[in-house]
Amino acid sequence: MADLGIPANTIAVLQKYDFNFQKKFGQNFLIDTRVLEHIIEESHVTKDDCVLEIGPGIGTMTQYLAESAGMVVAVEIDKNLIPILEDTLSEYNNVKIINGDILKTDVRAICDEYNGGRPIKVVANLPYYITTPIIMGLFESKVPLDSITIMVQKEVAERMECGPGTKDYGALSLAVQFYARPEIVANVPPNCFLPRPGVGSAVIRLDRFSEPPVRVDDEKLMFNMIRAAFNQRRKTLANGLGNSGIQGITRELVQKVLEEMGLNPLLRGEAMDLETWAEFTNKVIVKLA
Ligand code: SAM
Repeated sequence: MADLGIPANTIAVLQKYDFNFQKKFGQNFLIDTRVLEHIIEESHVTKDDCVLEIGPGIGTMTQYLAESAGMVVAVEIDKNLIPILEDTLSEYNNVKIINGDILKTDVRAICDEYNGGRPIKVVANLPYYITTPIIMGLFESKVPLDSITIMVQKEVAERMECGPGTKDYGALSLAVQFYARPEIVANVPPNCFLPRPGVGSAVIRLDRFSEPPVRVDDEKLMFNMIRAAFNQRRKTLANGLGNSGIQGITRELVQKVLEEMGLNPLLRGEAMDLETWAEFTNKVIVKLA
């Protein structure tokens, strides 16, 4: 099968199958060989790896992955793409295509079946409408993962990478940085896709930590507080958490803990880095006991 990274080859496949793009599935197919090569290089995939590709589309990046990886498992929601994928990937005996919704897919079972339970690498040009649930689902379910290399909306990539004091800093930054080391490895303009998306894109690699960089005694409580604080980011942490409805957390308790930490009781959650959030959570837990 011809290289689908070349625009004329993608157009030929779309015409052969009279394919109609489905906006609701975030379908923007890559048509730039240099971008594809760069993604594969930055994903650090080798023949020893089993790769999970989310949303293979017509199989463009899947072709590149199949050349570099030991095994590729590709999960595609759009059933109209399955016969196309069977055609475009027919030469490869190391590709498994699954028709399904990634948010309802048992990724651990994929690791077990195709990689003997060892950590997999995720590589994808993601459907942008569900970027956050896909990433958080992969991290929170604790499936064995080495890294995630993904194309996402540029602003979302920046949110994952940034720290306190920037306007993009938020719950997603803290959640991603708890689980992985993020690095933006490319900016990709709209003309590298068919059809062109209305936003800029970036490729980000998230290298999964074997251990989180901070010790926190109750991850769930920490992330509940982080989400509550950023939902009301203009408020002080004490006011934001005081009326968040999280059990036992009052304005007074938050102020007391901040004072004990030597911090300003009028501090906002958006000024706290991950380490400070972890320390704050551990001290709150002691107070709640
Ligand atoms: N990988 C292809 C490429 O780079 O040309 C296509 C990428 S396109 C941005 C996103 C793909 O994800 C589409 O093929 C779309 O149908 C698929 N998709 C959307 N939602 C999905 C979901 N919930 N589960 C699995 N695939 C999904």
